[in-house]
Amino acid sequence: MKAIQIEKPEVLKIIDIEKPEISEENNVLIKVTASGICGSDVGIYHGRNAAATYPRIIGHEIVGRVEDVGNNVSKLKVGDRVIIDQVVNCGECYACKKGRGNVCGNLHVRGVHIDGGYREYIAVPEDACYLLPDSLSDVEAVMIEPTTIAIQSCSRAELSGEDTLLLLGYGALGSSILKIARLSGAKIIVADIVDEKLKEALNNGADYTINILKEDVVAKAKELTGGYGPTVSIDAACTKDSLSILLKATGNAGRVITMGFSVDPTEVTQFMITSKELDVRGSRLQNKKFGEAIQLIQEGKLNLKGTVSHTFSYLDAQKAFDFIDSKDPSIRKIVLTFE
Ligand code: MN
Repeated sequence: MKAIQIEKPEVLKIIDIEKPEISEENNVLIKVTASGICGSDVGIYHGRNAAATYPRIIGHEIVGRVEDVGNNVSKLKVGDRVIIDQVVNCGECYACKKGRGNVCGNLHVRGVHIDGGYREYIAVPEDACYLLPDSLSDVEAVMIEPTTIAIQSCSRAELSGEDTLLLLGYGALGSSILKIARLSGAKIIVADIVDEKLKEALNNGADYTINILKEDVVAKAKELTGGYGPTVSIDAACTKDSLSILLKATGNAGRVITMGFSVDPTEVTQFMITSKELDVRGSRLQNKKFGEAIQLIQEGKLNLKGTVSHTFSYLDAQKAFDFIDSKDPSIRKIVLTFE
């Protein structure tokens, strides 16, 4: 069978590998049908993801059909359509025992630390699979994964209807977060540098927008909240200075959620945190949020249709990655198909 491997940064290859076999541990064989291209996949391709190791079969937004099941499988049957959880955790360490396997001390993420979904077949544990709602095609269902990332950030923020959220950045991550954040009933301010995106945010349920290039985001966010400041800030821009901006903007007793992996120092003082008793919390990957995402779709609260802008056959993966590099404004989500 074929797979897409990043042999080393900037080198994408279609390779032939053995079709996986079911084992006691990986007891369900999935025929992959669709696999999304995430910003982190692009980062691994270009050598910008410090966590990744090479060579690597990338892809962590993995949708497929159950092709075969092992003897002890009880919940899945051949033909079931599923999405696969990308987080593989040890179950033994402090984080795992605290129920936070997404930051396991021995974390393995499919497509980052271990081989992922850009291949025709993958064998995984039954528990890593979540049944897809009938209402979504396999290609559309890829968007469930970014949705879980959004749910994770809003749950880390304990976002509720009492809050005003400052959402910094309205790219792929920010737009998924807005979809989830609005379900909480919170007032939402979206900040970005592109007017077109801000218009889109307003159409998708943001209450206010700020163009950071034109206005002082900290002053404007305070003004929009009667001087108090937003009670929750989520960084979906993940730039060098996001954190210091959000620490300044967020009001007393608020929560600041980081999602980026920037290693560039930014100016932060203890005073910024202590004086307002802010909670600064990281939000990484997602912690068993697939069930919640799928339930929201089934209840009709969340619509993921229309978010995938382009599909490419996995055999044209190089073309797909080149197209992403072109930064074509029509790009929203690109999905590789395997049939
Ligand atoms: Mn992703």
